[in-house]
Amino acid sequence: MMNVTQSNPSDELSINCLHERTAVLGGARNIAYLFDMSRFMRSVRLAVNPARLITRGLSEQWNNLLNRNKKTATDEITGKAVAAYCGLAVGDALGATVEFMLPSEIVHAYGVHKKIIGGGWLKLRPGQVTDDTTMALALGEAILNKQRFDITDMAMAFDKWLKGKPVDVGNTVRRGIVNFRNTKRPISPESEHDAGNGACMRVLPVALATYGADEELTKRVSRMQSHVTHNNDYSDAAIDCVVSMIHMAFDGDDKKAMEDGPVAKLLEAFPKYRYDKKHQHNPSAYIVDTMRAVFQSFFHTQTFEDCLIEVVNRGGDADTTGAIVGMIAGAYYGLDSIPHSWLKAVDRDVIARCRYQAEHLIDFSKEFATNRLM
Ligand SMILES: [Mg+2]
Repeated sequence: MMNVTQSNPSDELSINCLHERTAVLGGARNIAYLFDMSRFMRSVRLAVNPARLITRGLSEQWNNLLNRNKKTATDEITGKAVAAYCGLAVGDALGATVEFMLPSEIVHAYGVHKKIIGGGWLKLRPGQVTDDTTMALALGEAILNKQRFDITDMAMAFDKWLKGKPVDVGNTVRRGIVNFRNTKRPISPESEHDAGNGACMRVLPVALATYGADEELTKRVSRMQSHVTHNNDYSDAAIDCVVSMIHMAFDGDDKKAMEDGPVAKLLEAFPKYRYDKKHQHNPSAYIVDTMRAVFQSFFHTQTFEDCLIEVVNRGGDADTTGAIVGMIAGAYYGLDSIPHSWLKAVDRDVIARCRYQAEHLIDFSKEFATNRLM
């Protein structure tokens, strides 16, 4: 039995763990019982679905649980998830200072830019983050608040975010959200012109919440968040690649495995993503430019710090290249690799929210992946 339900058939996309549990036994009393039991189980931090205990038997349930925990080493995964989220915020804050600058202008102004000092064209406070981080936090909140994946929840969260007058909004993002506000349809029309990086930059909460789920389900959830604003094959493919790289980093895979796996798959389907031809200076918000800079910086450096410095000093859409490579490198190198001075420099409230969401999205992922087995 799959755990995917369509709570709103017109939207196509909604995945709700609780609905599935209740469907197993049916009936109002059972629903109430399962709901209460599920809350109780969650309160003692056991990712056990009571419906499965009843229908499949204790031994199989516990075997699955123990095997999964053995494989994922929960504390280590949570640590990497926190590092990925903090890496996103740090990369955003570091890069925002030099967004839209040419590499030569950065050299003239800073030599090598490597301090989180705010400023830039947005005139940021030191440590302030931009839309990359705040949209991710809005998305994470939408998932955690209702403990489900639902495209309308996500669109409403983005709409609320836009109404909060964020410091920066991309054109495609604004258009998609306004389209939802006017039509109530959460999916933007497919467009070959929407190959910007605005959906990829905020994908991290989905990557965390789908860890352990199968590929097909992960893609479905990724499409929900991205298609609110960016309904485009290039954007979709890059997002799939980034999510896979983060999951592989959690599994302890090395960079070669990433290059041979999701990156090779992306390049085969979309050769424009090849990053071995020339150095990607001044990457634009076009997702292909962005990902070339991300790949070159991540694969050609050996530490989180070098990777981030390398990418933001290319200028261009530096906050977003910083954010995307920050989440991948954070997951790969871990929290200890992020310079303390950078973590300290980013707004304290933002780092606290990143940490909180990372921990709870990983908790959510355990339950989501467990239900998938039903
Ligand atoms: Mg930004």
